[in-house]
Amino acid sequence: MDELSRLRGFSARVGADPLLVQAAGGNTSLKHGGVMWIKASGTWLKEAVARDIMVPADHAALMAALSRNDPACETCTAFVRTDLNAGSLRPSIETTVHALMPQKVVVHVHCVNTIAWAIRTDAERLLRHKLKGFRWAFIPYARPGLPLAAAISARLTPGLDVLVLGNHGLVVAGDSVEQTEALLNRVVGALRRPVRARAAVDHAAIAKACAGTQYGLAVSDETHALATDAIALPRGKHAVFYPDHVVFLGVGVATRLASAAPLVALPGLGVVIRHDAKPSIEPMGRCLADVMRRVQPDEALHALTAEDIDRLVNWDAEKYRQTLDAKA
Ligand SMILES: [Zn+2]
Repeated sequence: MDELSRLRGFSARVGADPLLVQAAGGNTSLKHGGVMWIKASGTWLKEAVARDIMVPADHAALMAALSRNDPACETCTAFVRTDLNAGSLRPSIETTVHALMPQKVVVHVHCVNTIAWAIRTDAERLLRHKLKGFRWAFIPYARPGLPLAAAISARLTPGLDVLVLGNHGLVVAGDSVEQTEALLNRVVGALRRPVRARAAVDHAAIAKACAGTQYGLAVSDETHALATDAIALPRGKHAVFYPDHVVFLGVGVATRLASAAPLVALPGLGVVIRHDAKPSIEPMGRCLADVMRRVQPDEALHALTAEDIDRLVNWDAEKYRQTLDAKA
């Protein structure tokens, strides 16, 4: 199907932009002939052209199950059209978000500009001004799966094609790939925030600090900003502001090599990554730096609660996604 290949091209473009998608985060979908093609759990959007990462699901069966709050919607594996599924991949853990949007094409991204708004305690009020003219809704934070589906259903009205997910990200929908990509670009443009400059990186000093340890330098200078930015560590060291952070990095950010964490931010110096760390680790560290560089020091932020974190890390669908990351 031609449109599916266009969706894959769009997915790869979105997935290659670290300000929109990090590691296995984010997903896209296309509804056609009763089938919803959705990105597979644990796969990377940037590989959407190179690899077959789209899974076919029965859209009507999914919607019927959602309407009765069926626990099968937590993983959505029961709705895979096995007759069309060439691989053994499972649908994204955010499949329900895509199913609920009536439009043909849906994209969900962990856009850092959006997150920098969506973690503020006054996010909904401020976004009302920023997104004036768009058909949008703010969805208060809920764990992906059935809780997020319920939160979206409660605020979804006909014609809506933009959702800002509190403490999470952005959903944009349209009736074609091109229309959806254009709308995504317009929304991201409207939500762009000024970025604090980052300090110069002293690579030699970081290398010296981790010499002889299990750690090496983060590849991107953007990641090092996590350790040198005025507020990234002070605000992010003990808190979690969006789901993928805690799922991949744990609670907060480790700041000592002795911690054995996959990523350590050496305050004032830079970021080091354990040699055996999963490929998603550095993109997640960079994401926090990119978000925090768009937050002003005096802004009141809403962090996930201990209960929110517990519900995420003990969710079975999320545990499965983590097993794929370990193999990557
Ligand atoms: Zn998400």
